[in-house]
Amino acid sequence: MSLYDVVIRDGTVVSTSGSRRADVGVRNGRVAAVSADGLIKPGQFSVDGPVAADVIDARGKLVFPGLIDAHTHFGLTSGDTATSDDFHSGTIAAACGGVTTVIDFVTPAPGGTVAAALAERLREASRAVIDYGFHGVLIEPAAVGEVPGLIGQGVTSFKLYMAYKARGLMAGDGTLAGALEAARRSGGLIGVHAEDNEMVDAATAALARAGHTAMPFFAAARPAQAERAAIARACRQAEQAGTALHVFHLSTAAGLEEIREARLRGLLVWAETCPHYLTFTDEVCARPDGYRFAMNPPLRKQADVDALWDGLAEGEIQTVASDHCPFPLAAKARGAASFLDVPAGVGGTELILTVLLSEGVAKGRLSLERLAQVTSANPAALFGLYAEKGRLGPGADADLVIVDPDAEWTVTPGELHSQGDHTPYEGLKARGRVVVTMAKGQVVYRDGAFVGEAGAGHYLPRAKAREVHQVQSAG
Ligand SMILES: [Zn+2]
Repeated sequence: MSLYDVVIRDGTVVSTSGSRRADVGVRNGRVAAVSADGLIKPGQFSVDGPVAADVIDARGKLVFPGLIDAHTHFGLTSGDTATSDDFHSGTIAAACGGVTTVIDFVTPAPGGTVAAALAERLREASRAVIDYGFHGVLIEPAAVGEVPGLIGQGVTSFKLYMAYKARGLMAGDGTLAGALEAARRSGGLIGVHAEDNEMVDAATAALARAGHTAMPFFAAARPAQAERAAIARACRQAEQAGTALHVFHLSTAAGLEEIREARLRGLLVWAETCPHYLTFTDEVCARPDGYRFAMNPPLRKQADVDALWDGLAEGEIQTVASDHCPFPLAAKARGAASFLDVPAGVGGTELILTVLLSEGVAKGRLSLERLAQVTSANPAALFGLYAEKGRLGPGADADLVIVDPDAEWTVTPGELHSQGDHTPYEGLKARGRVVVTMAKGQVVYRDGAFVGEAGAGHYLPRAKAREVHQVQSAG
């Protein structure tokens, strides 16, 4: 018997508080030791065998805590179109990008309960290759009554759509008020898809009347002020209820300003942004293949991109998640005739780390420590996964990702593991590349190949998000 199942040797271990050369010892799926002095000395043996059964040489590499992608949409159907990834292929893609935990969504069927939908989602996720949890989607006022029961099943965070009325997904202000009150009593966390439905509908209708339904008008149909207005309304409701709020996929400087103002009034409000809002502006929608860049909220202006990077660096935005929702190119291409027909959503779970390293760290817009915070430590704390997840220290799950920080490569869809047949990041000149992903002590990705197992991921019943008060807002 060895002392460690695996030792990751001599890498630069990145945590929220700094980076240092260290060995990481893994035993029984957990981190057993992190030592700057080295865990393996020449000629050293434990009582009855070598110190480590396996050694991974991480010299010159960075070792991050595994990413928590707290926003994926595996196996989602929009109208007559299904996303390209189910829980199996989607979690493979995630794992190959250094993600070791995902949080997806459970959306009730029309007239059904969230609890019934959860049972179905758990079946769908049985072949997941990494651990997973679910946010509950609340739509009808009656769903508020399910909140305590769902929390008991480990669904401790919730999403309410402030848009998509026509698709039957929108939660009215009454549901939002009820959900916030239920969360205050029961300890859950309420999050919003913040786009004001009426403003989006009005802008879309005006463009349609003018015959402006080509992709270059896509972003104008969902204006920045619609995001700000929805954030303002949700923040005021959270203040009234006396509880915290989470804003999913923040895309604008205006929305961030609204969050800043709410914080000055004393509200605890957390914000997530996504790799695509940090990479592209709405100018790409004017390309002949602009439909490939359709997602909601839409891509914005350069000033928004810059504000999101600043917000991430300064601690005003707490998490980065992918909103992974790839639709087949053939379906996206319907947008070439009219954006009214384009399924909104893009893939990205495999490229969160690549984008943050290439567009953030390599360009001096994000520190390594802050990267670890927004991709791992913060989502773990916000969503009730700390301290098993979100850190690389003794007792934590051995979820980690080893990165070659100097590797330069160009993103092509063929190199990705998603079942999606295209990627908006095609052609991106990347700096930094995942070489190994380990989930609960098992190597699941190594040197370009997925080597994990279907069903190795387990459902994570999450703790209440009571730790929100402890989430560090400052880098
Ligand atoms: Zn989403």
